[in-house]
Amino acid sequence: MVEIKKRVVNIKMFIDGEWKDAENLQTRPVINPANGEVISYAPEGTVADARAAIYAARHAFEAGVWSGISAQERASYLFKIADKIDEYAAELTELETMDNGKPLREAGFDVADAAACFRYYAGLITAPDGQTYHVADPMQAMVVREPIGVCGLIVPWNYPLLMSVWKIAPALAAGNTIVYKPSEVTPITPKKLFEILEEVGLPKGVANMVMGAGPVVGNEIASHPEVDMVSFTGGTKTGKHIMKTAADTMKKVSLELGGKSPNIIFADMDLELAVDYALFGIYAGSGQVCSAGSRILVEESVYDQFVNRFVERARKIQVGTGNDSSTEMGPLVSEQHLEKVLHYIELGKQEGATLACGGNRIVRDGLDKGYFVEPTVFIDVKQKMRIVQEEIFGPVVVIQKFKDEEEAIKLANGTVYGLAGAVFTNDGAKALRVVKKLRAGITWVNSYHPTYNEAPWGGYKQSGVGRSLGTFGLEEFQEIKQININLQVEPVGWFSN
Ligand code: NDP
Repeated sequence: MVEIKKRVVNIKMFIDGEWKDAENLQTRPVINPANGEVISYAPEGTVADARAAIYAARHAFEAGVWSGISAQERASYLFKIADKIDEYAAELTELETMDNGKPLREAGFDVADAAACFRYYAGLITAPDGQTYHVADPMQAMVVREPIGVCGLIVPWNYPLLMSVWKIAPALAAGNTIVYKPSEVTPITPKKLFEILEEVGLPKGVANMVMGAGPVVGNEIASHPEVDMVSFTGGTKTGKHIMKTAADTMKKVSLELGGKSPNIIFADMDLELAVDYALFGIYAGSGQVCSAGSRILVEESVYDQFVNRFVERARKIQVGTGNDSSTEMGPLVSEQHLEKVLHYIELGKQEGATLACGGNRIVRDGLDKGYFVEPTVFIDVKQKMRIVQEEIFGPVVVIQKFKDEEEAIKLANGTVYGLAGAVFTNDGAKALRVVKKLRAGITWVNSYHPTYNEAPWGGYKQSGVGRSLGTFGLEEFQEIKQININLQVEPVGWFSN
């Protein structure tokens, strides 16, 4: 058991290079989800605070202190940030566990990924880009990529550090200035990240962090005319609201939203391996992962066998506090989210699904004050049930049966979401056939969850618009400008007089 320090010094926002309280001095408590204790207080920022951050970012952008320096110089800052993340890795890992609840093992991966993401974009931004075109003499046509300007970045609580870095690293690499808002539920590693940005000496006003309720501070970021783009990760309902809000000022919008991802298992697959990956697909992160394999579809000839083995292993998952090294699954992030997940479990029962295991809040000694839920499995579900259609975002999975490839694809694509999906089979051609039919942005064959900084992340349908990571993730934060140069100026000759 790792003793994690109990409190973090009260949190402040970072605006125009200075640490600030909310202008009205209001705060809200930050809770450790493993035991319900208050670990800090975060500023309850206001519209005025959001505007101060937006104006600081606008001023820094117009001054060219960031967009005007060379890509190599910007990259050198990003490399320094990555090095600092490595230097503070142990502290960041503990803070993430304390704030979000995830086991130290998971938090450690996130921290390492965060450093790697900064390094990736530091490298990418110095690579050649742009295009030239062979047009008729004496013209020369070319395309250059430019920063968009002030980017509003709004992130959720499930990967407080990593989701932030997925936006901050490419946005800064591209030369933008940023107004960033973490989730109010998990502001602690964001605060540490901004301490790092300050430590490496990022010019004043380039990176601003404002905290406060989404409908107040987030809404101001999405609606303000001085914000040129909003990049949002969170729920589909909020994403729709942001898209509508941003439309008034015609901002570019990038949305990484929810999912209800299918994990398709064919009978020819080794059953033990299929169960192993499927458990990882849903219960990693306590199911609070946008791409979680929350709908398992199993070919009917092995369905019963699969369910029995899956349930047997789900029951053995070690649920506990994140700082306990034997813990395999931590708590849910907040009491409010716990209520939401338990509500869905009740709903599943009312809809007539069979609870094959789990379904309860865990109240045994040591966990009774935290927000723990048993790994939960529903079977005998129908496609139209809300527990099949809606994102629960907890350790709750539905296991469905299919008779052939065609039905598997139909069920898999049968929700409004299209974030991720996986296929397990030993038949290579079948795997590719099925994956190509999935209406989803991220797919795996005989695997679940691996994500790479190099590869684009994002969804089809109501799972979002645009992509994070890879070259696509950088392009989200760039404008494209066409430049046409006349190399020999002569009269146009269009008008005679
Ligand atoms: P929410 O949509 O509730 O919140 C996400 C962020 O948006 C928070 O910072 C929140 O602020 C803010 N926000 C809330 N309302 C508004 C508003 N009206 N205007 C502007 N900003 C607002 O999502 P959760 O935090 O509950 O996160 C879970 C969701 O995120 C899941 O649906 C999950 O699938 C999705 N997600 C998607 C990922 C992807 O890559 N596709 C990755 C990770 C998560 P605050 O909370 O402070 O009020």
